[in-house]
Amino acid sequence: MTRRGFSIFWLPILVLAVAGCQPEEPVFYSRFLAFGTLMDLTIAGVPPDRAEQAAQALEADFLRMHESWHAWDPSPLGRVNRQLESGERFSAPASVLPLIKLGQSLSVTSNALFNPAIGHLIDLWGFHRDDPDGGRPPPAAEIEALVKKSPAMSDIEIDGLTIRSSNSAVKLDFGAFGKGYGIDLAVAHLRELGISNAIVNAGGDLRAIGSRNGVPWRIAVRHPNGTGIMGTIEISGDESVFTSGDYERYFTWKGRRYHHILDPRTGFPATDTTSVTVIHSNSTTADAAATALFVAGPEEWFEIAEKMGLTQVLLIDQPGTLHMTPAMRQRLDLVTANHRIEISPPLPPATTDR
Ligand code: AMP
Ligand code: MG
Repeated sequence: MTRRGFSIFWLPILVLAVAGCQPEEPVFYSRFLAFGTLMDLTIAGVPPDRAEQAAQALEADFLRMHESWHAWDPSPLGRVNRQLESGERFSAPASVLPLIKLGQSLSVTSNALFNPAIGHLIDLWGFHRDDPDGGRPPPAAEIEALVKKSPAMSDIEIDGLTIRSSNSAVKLDFGAFGKGYGIDLAVAHLRELGISNAIVNAGGDLRAIGSRNGVPWRIAVRHPNGTGIMGTIEISGDESVFTSGDYERYFTWKGRRYHHILDPRTGFPATDTTSVTVIHSNSTTADAAATALFVAGPEEWFEIAEKMGLTQVLLIDQPGTLHMTPAMRQRLDLVTANHRIEISPPLPPATTDR
């Protein structure tokens, strides 16, 4: 058969085959800086120009959120913190009030291990700085004095759109769940734009919706040593995966690592955990919960996870044992097999979606 003859023979079959296939939209990637982290946006199922427009809209959203929730810059949250200290009642800005309400309920369910009212403690340790490297532990007496004042989310009284604090030691810091809340808002915005297949990923913390042209998304769970990956998880539908680790922000002083996740009961970095990964239906809860369970540690995490309505949790303790719920064990494909693993009793699914 000549080359020409071959082409003519196969042409109708090729055309039929192409006509029978769903045309696949290319997967679109975009990367920009948000909340001091690199944000990776992946979008599938729409033409590139629509994906590009969505990426620009999200970048603008994240910039506004960052400007609103900086506790230390001149910002809406900065003003709220000054007014909370005064004890006066005032109108809370619309960008901050929803986070205060969510922060209150997540603080209750975490037995206040997640406590975004400890901004003064975080400042004292220097973890509000983008680069706390070169720091040293603050004087123990100053830590103790702040812990004694027990700033709590329940000190904030909300009446309609106005708020006041009954405790002048309350300073809000949204570092433990602002990113999660931002990702939830970003996903809502993507849906408004008609995008239903995407991953919004802030440095490994992410929410994934839909799929990649019908194939589930496969996402990586970071290794607690801060480099490489621990395992992978397949997601199709809508799920958030958040990790809190002692490698994210820390300084070393006299050979000891002091990281950024503080136990509000002691005022010191929580001691027994290296990382916690939570899979949940929304990013706000997943983010707050990862921080809370990190503080709870290997002894208390199960009780707090149950109270927070979680079902899929991985906690890696200081000696390196992996504590997991059975539901998490089912989801997680570990990269290596040489782990000591302890499987907890199952956690029942929450009756309401939190
Ligand atoms: P994450 O990486 O989500 O665990 O959040 C850690 C950040 O949350 C820290 O850098 C602090 O700004 C803040 N933070 C530290 N400890 C707590 C805590 N126990 N509750 C609430 N926020 C905290
Ligand atoms: Mg968090």
